[in-house]
Amino acid sequence: AHYSRRKGNPKVLFMGLRRSGKSSIQKVVFQKLSPADTLFLESTTRIETASMQSFVTFESAEVPSQLSAIAPDFDHRAAFSSAGAVIWILDVQDEFLTSISEMIQTAVFLAENYPRVNFEVFIHKTDGLSDEYKNETFREVRQRVQDELSDLGHGDRSVSYFQTSIFDHSVFEAMSKVVQKLLPQLPAMEALLNKLCSTCRIQKAYLFDTVSKIYVATDASPTFLKDYEVCSDYVDVIVDIKQIYGWHSQEGDGKAASETSQEDGGIGESMVTYDNSGDTYIYAREINDYLSLICVMGKGSSTAKRVLIDYNVSILHDALLQVFRV
Ligand code: GDP
Repeated sequence: AHYSRRKGNPKVLFMGLRRSGKSSIQKVVFQKLSPADTLFLESTTRIETASMQSFVTFESAEVPSQLSAIAPDFDHRAAFSSAGAVIWILDVQDEFLTSISEMIQTAVFLAENYPRVNFEVFIHKTDGLSDEYKNETFREVRQRVQDELSDLGHGDRSVSYFQTSIFDHSVFEAMSKVVQKLLPQLPAMEALLNKLCSTCRIQKAYLFDTVSKIYVATDASPTFLKDYEVCSDYVDVIVDIKQIYGWHSQEGDGKAASETSQEDGGIGESMVTYDNSGDTYIYAREINDYLSLICVMGKGSSTAKRVLIDYNVSILHDALLQVFRV
């Protein structure tokens, strides 16, 4: 059930000015470095790649800022021909006009030479900024880029913008959305999650890559950063319980319970727990070694629904295996 065709691996390329945060994002998301430890990262001077083995292999690479995409000595074929997305990192706490003009050059170069590579912009380091300032600069950057691209005849080029910081969940949510676009299995996964939500009256379901905490799919209902935050914390809970108890956890303080049915040797056990912060119940289940399903059940739900959800999730589990079968 492992999807390992090398060619199909989602690969993202980080670009941007020096000290904009390229290495930090790559290391925090894909290599689990703690955000505080990024303070002392060495500056990157050559193309650095990283890969993360999960249900697919995620590949990422960082292009050092002194290598301009349009410079004649830059081996752009090696960098871009296998890339699914280029993510431009713009440090919003710094003077960003230079970054914007280099970003435009890169976007135009890509549009003309590698039109199939997605272009994504992270308006980065939004921590510590007031909401008002954050939103204002977000609009300003987007408007400027859009205007300049139009002037250069590439107004139809679709560019996505995200506000990110490594000190909160925003960078993971943004990476999730970038990576999802590169997964050919996305529509199938979304359809399965929609079905699960409607059958079991679940408010929101996220399918997580357990290691990176990137969500690889969610149902069609609106996404809120709040739901993502709560759910991604339960991915940690799954990992912790598994390490401590191997899932043979006892009925603890009455709030969490887990089961020991391992029917078809694949799917893990489920946990239903009450989450104070949102006044909701959370359903958490490990689908396989790589994927975890976390659902927000909504107000007024109860643990009694667990049997129903367990049953439907086992169906989802089998269907997912089909989706990823090579
Ligand atoms: P690179 O040269 O683009 O790879 O930049 P680095 O990843 O080395 O980061 C440069 C500096 O920015 C480091 O001191 C990081 O700690 C800091 N940094 C990275 N991301 C963030 C962020 O989201 N917020 C803040 N405040 N600082 C960040």
